[in-house]
Amino acid sequence: MSNTVTRDTFDQVMVPNYSPAGFIPVKAEGSRVWDQQGREFIDLAGGIAVNSLGHCHPEVVAALTEQAGKLWHVSNVFTNEPALQLASALVEKTFAERVFFCNSGAEANEAAFKLARKYAADHYSADKYEIISCTNSFHGRTVFTVNVGGQPKYAEGFGPNPAGITHVPFNDIDALKAAISDKTCAVVIEPVQGEGGVLPADPAYLQAARELCTAHNALLVFDEVQTGVGRTGSLYAYQEYGVTPDILSSAKGLGGGFPIGAMLTTAAIAKSLAVGTHGTTYGGNPLASAVAGKVVEIVSRPEVLAGVRAKHQRFVDGLNAINAKYNVFKEVRGMGLLIGAVVSDEFAGRARDFLKAAEAEQLMVLVAGLSVVRFAPSLVIAEQDIDDGLARFDAAVAAVVAASRH
Ligand SMILES: *Cc1c(COP(=O)(O)O)cnc(C)c1O
Repeated sequence: MSNTVTRDTFDQVMVPNYSPAGFIPVKAEGSRVWDQQGREFIDLAGGIAVNSLGHCHPEVVAALTEQAGKLWHVSNVFTNEPALQLASALVEKTFAERVFFCNSGAEANEAAFKLARKYAADHYSADKYEIISCTNSFHGRTVFTVNVGGQPKYAEGFGPNPAGITHVPFNDIDALKAAISDKTCAVVIEPVQGEGGVLPADPAYLQAARELCTAHNALLVFDEVQTGVGRTGSLYAYQEYGVTPDILSSAKGLGGGFPIGAMLTTAAIAKSLAVGTHGTTYGGNPLASAVAGKVVEIVSRPEVLAGVRAKHQRFVDGLNAINAKYNVFKEVRGMGLLIGAVVSDEFAGRARDFLKAAEAEQLMVLVAGLSVVRFAPSLVIAEQDIDDGLARFDAAVAAVVAASRH
């Protein structure tokens, strides 16, 4: 059955906006994945920072199957227990007092940006609509979110573009200070720029952004779609930094592989999304909420969060050891289990070569931009899988070096 479709089928039936790897995963457990031919891969990509508990975690499978036998969907004309339980957990564990559920990171940001504009219009004036974002940031692929995002190539060809969005260099306090004004309704920042190259914010930068937002009655929005749900070693990265936003978007790891997004905010700000102002059919769907509820419960366990920090060190040490042998990276950076290896000038723009070589070694990794190899594995990845994965990565690096330096 599964072998009646192949990678070639993709080119025959799918819109060509992706260029997937040559193999098709069909089965997985923990941090191991098997393809149609039964070849085993080690997964250090984690579905792009999504599979927070690896593949088919038994407690999460149980939560999904139990809910699947009870209630799948009722729409937001009715509420449901799993959504209320998940929202209660998020309210209990974060700054937030109110939660809005949706199905993706882009939608969580779309809600955040709409709320920021609505809140400013409700409380200040219709002219207070400017959103300040960072160069190289990534906030999703809807027309609004690609324009808030700081990578113009993603917005090209989809105009006319929405107005009232400006970009400033990341980690540049003076640039933010110069750009912000009383017309600013929101400043949006990823605590660690993910797609932009696994670049952590300076603590002083986030602190300054907080103070500038407060001084200008602008809302501070943290896009934690990639950094959230334990990825950095705290439930949310803002807790690691000690800087509290007004609105936070979450998705990716929240569902551990089941689509769900959430926008978190305070009760006072939430009031601006009154009945009828915003919505989505599937948001807070019982299946997604039951899964996310279990994911949040497990990730919040102190041993899981402490494990993320310990595994971070194991990765960094392993990558530095590989680099000592081959001298291919100029920096290994990141937080928790969101790690980037920045290729040296010799390999500038060629991070994808390492990804391709890893595939040949039956290893799944990611890139972030053209020059960073990114790792975003399961938060509960076994030490043996890290070690085996890094051994395969060592072989992949050796292959890239051999092809390039003969
Ligand atoms: C992935 C990502 C998004 C978009 O999430 P989707 O679920 O793909 O819509 C938004 N912001 C950040 C920081 C992300 O990493």
